[in-house]
Amino acid sequence: MKKPFVTKAQLEAITAHYPTPFHLYDEKGIRDNADRLNRAFSWNPGFKEYFAVKATPTPAILKLLKVCGCGVDCSSLTELILAEKCGFSGHDIMFTSNNTLAEEFQLADRLGAIINLDDITHVDFLEQSIGHIPETVFCRYNPGGVFTLGESKEGFQVMDTPGDAKYGMTRSQLTEAFRTLKAKGAKRFGIHAFLASNTISNQYYPELAGILFRLAAELKEETGCEICHINLSGGIGIPYLPEQEPIDINIVGEGVRQKYEEILVPAGMGHVELCSELGRFMLGPYGCLVTKAIHEKHIYKEYIGVDACAADLMRPAVYGAYHHITVMGKEDAPCDQTYDVTGALCENCDKFAVDRKLPKIDRGDLLVIHDTGAHGHCMGYNYNGKLRSAELLLHEDGSVEMIRRAETVDDYFATVIW
Ligand SMILES: *Cc1c(COP(=O)(O)O)cnc(C)c1O
Repeated sequence: MKKPFVTKAQLEAITAHYPTPFHLYDEKGIRDNADRLNRAFSWNPGFKEYFAVKATPTPAILKLLKVCGCGVDCSSLTELILAEKCGFSGHDIMFTSNNTLAEEFQLADRLGAIINLDDITHVDFLEQSIGHIPETVFCRYNPGGVFTLGESKEGFQVMDTPGDAKYGMTRSQLTEAFRTLKAKGAKRFGIHAFLASNTISNQYYPELAGILFRLAAELKEETGCEICHINLSGGIGIPYLPEQEPIDINIVGEGVRQKYEEILVPAGMGHVELCSELGRFMLGPYGCLVTKAIHEKHIYKEYIGVDACAADLMRPAVYGAYHHITVMGKEDAPCDQTYDVTGALCENCDKFAVDRKLPKIDRGDLLVIHDTGAHGHCMGYNYNGKLRSAELLLHEDGSVEMIRRAETVDDYFATVIW
């Protein structure tokens, strides 16, 4: 059973000060998880997690992760500015962009960020943009085809299609890019690949590591380039569904270590530093959207209207994504009702749950929508003139801090020329 990280009594105290809806983050959960990740990879002295800023671009969260030893992975000008404002600099910033603007490379270079090139044409474009080639540079690999993992009776437990993804370079482009970059003065190289998203498998990272480690050994052989870094990127998933098991980060770390010993060490590459760019895994379970039931409606189906909408969390509307819902105070009540839980947008997809078995909900009940810590608040939008909610941080001592206020009507009109 999925349990909220906050109690009903705590939420009642919080809602006395901060009106619903709001996203709430769990400081302790975030810290403990980051510590577990760092411990699982502590066998690799240079290991560093670069949190994927796009997942939760909120300064208090980025600063918290910084204290936990994380860097940041940025993909746009604004994310680079955010990283700078949060005190990140130099190699604590990874810049993994695509379809990049010259001004983005210029700011990444000025901050001393590690630049991760998405395309072979970006070698020349980077040089034209910043006037030189950095000594440390990464290239992103796309192996094409279909990536699968662990076939079971029900099918593949992980399957994604890099061949349809716009990112990265082909195998032969990678060799060419490394040769050109080396000729232009690059000294230390990194490789990166993102092959599958939201994988709930302990095998994903080890499998990806195997692919990248073999590739690194080949590239070193072919080009003579010194490969110092391997970026396993994001993609480790979280159990959105109550019946799913979380991955075990210790098993993941150990699986990657075995590949390292098997492939890199014999290739004379036992100094390679690993990094990750996890977003969902770092924050997803440690945030929730708190909303209040404000209406019920009985027509051809049973509806519960809440005071949040897809402007606060668009994954269910856009992807049909499942987000578990707990009705606070009714955790042990039988789930004998079938509801659609809806927001107020004039779009029928604005539903946090469809045909969901839940306990009887009364107006005024507080609902916790789970796993909104990553790709939650940040994906919000202003359709129908809806204003995005506040973000609150639940500290380890039980106190609560507002880390982003709710939008106001003035914010909505700020860009308008009347
Ligand atoms: C989105 C993204 C990530 C993070 O992905 P998660 O699924 O949240 O782990 C990491 N790296 C890059 C380049 C991304 O675009």
